[in-house]
Amino acid sequence: MEMLNQLKRQLQTLEEQDLIRTRRTVDTPCGPRVSVGGRELLAFCTNDYLGLANHRSIKLALQEGAAMYGVGSGASHLISGHGRAHTMLEERLVEFVGAHLESPRALTFCTGYMANLAIVTGLTAADRDADIFSESLNHASLIDGARLSRANVKVYPHADLEALTKLLAASNAATKLVVTDSVFSMDGDLAPLPQLLALCEQHGAWLVVDDAHGFGTLGTNGHGALEHFNLRSPNLVYMGTLGKAAGVSGAFVAAHETVIETLIQKARPYIFTTAAPPALAHALLTSLELLEGDEGRSRRAHLQALVAQLDDGLRLKRWQRMPSMTAIQPILIGDNAETMRAGAALYEQGLWVGTIRPPTVAPGTSRLRVTLSAGHSSMEVAKLIAAINALERT
Ligand SMILES: *Cc1c(COP(=O)(O)O)cnc(C)c1O
Repeated sequence: MEMLNQLKRQLQTLEEQDLIRTRRTVDTPCGPRVSVGGRELLAFCTNDYLGLANHRSIKLALQEGAAMYGVGSGASHLISGHGRAHTMLEERLVEFVGAHLESPRALTFCTGYMANLAIVTGLTAADRDADIFSESLNHASLIDGARLSRANVKVYPHADLEALTKLLAASNAATKLVVTDSVFSMDGDLAPLPQLLALCEQHGAWLVVDDAHGFGTLGTNGHGALEHFNLRSPNLVYMGTLGKAAGVSGAFVAAHETVIETLIQKARPYIFTTAAPPALAHALLTSLELLEGDEGRSRRAHLQALVAQLDDGLRLKRWQRMPSMTAIQPILIGDNAETMRAGAALYEQGLWVGTIRPPTVAPGTSRLRVTLSAGHSSMEVAKLIAAINALERT
C-alpha cells in the first residue's frame, strides 16, 4: 500500500535526523527513584515538582474517593457526570486563586491540554474577527487552541514587550487575547506577567495565563504565578494543571464568572467529553490541603534549595545552563545527536534526564531538560551535577 510506504518514509526521515522518540516503561510509582526494566534510576525528568504523585495521604484519599463515588463519572458534566466532588474541588480552587480575580469562579477539566483548547476557542467563539497574541514559546496546547479557534493569530517573540505593544496598538479587533505560559516549559524562565497585564488592561485584552508549572510551586502558599507576582485584575484568565506539582491529574480555569459561564456554554473540549472520575477530584482536595499547608511550604523551600545547589555546582563551558529559578533547569547543547548521546550517557549512570529536540524546541537548540523535585535529596542532586560536569568535558 502506497500510504503505508509514505508513513514508513516519514519515520525513516525522523530516524535519520535523530528525531525518533521512544518510551520507557516504568514499573514503579512516579517519584525521584524509579525502576525501568529491572534497573534503578534517579529520575530528573518528571513534573512531579513537589513529590506528591505517590504521597500516602493522597493515595488514601483516592481510595476513599473511589469508595464514595465509584470509578467512572458516566457522562459529560452537562448531562449527569458532574458530581459533588467536582463542585467541592471548584470551590476549593476559587479559594486558591480567587483573590487575584474579580467575581471569580473555577471550572475543572480532564487535562490542561483540553483546558487550553477550551479557553482559546471559548473566548473567541462570539467573535470571528478576534485577535490572538501568542508568545512564541507557548505550549503546544495553546498553539492548537489558537488554530482551532480560526481567529487571527499573531505570534510575538519570546518576552518581547515592545513587539507585543506594537501588535496590540495596531489591532482593531473587539476581542483580544494575549496568551502566555507563566513558566516556559522547556526553558524554565518566567513570563513578565506584571508588564503583560498592564498592557492588557491598557488595550482592553484578556491575559490568558497558563500556569502549568507554577501552580503549587510558585507563591508563598503555592497558589501559583498570580500569587508570586501579586497580580489582581478582571482581565486575567488563569489555567492551572493538577497533574504536575499537585501530583494527581486534570486542570482548571479560574476567571470572572461570566468567562466561566461562557466556557460551560460554548467550549467544546468541556462539553463533549466524559467528566473526569469524581474520585480524582476527591483526591485533589487532599492534594490542595497539602500544597497550602506546612508540608507544601517546606517542600517548596527544599526544592528552591536544590535549584540553588544546581546553579552553584554546574561548571559548563561548551554547554549552557539556561537562566531559570524554577524546577525546570535546561542545559542547552544545540545538536540533536550530541543531546541524545549526553542523555544516553547519563542514563547509563542511572540518571534519567529528559532530552528535548525539535519540534518541541527550535532547531539547533536541543537540550537536556533537568527537572528537580522536592522528593530529591541534596546528595542525589550532587550526583547529577558531578555527572553532567564530567560528561561535558569528554
Ligand atoms: C503540561 C502542560 C500543559 C498540559 O497539561 P496536561 O494536564 O498535561 O494536559 C499545558 N501547558 C503547559 C505549559 C504544560 O507544561
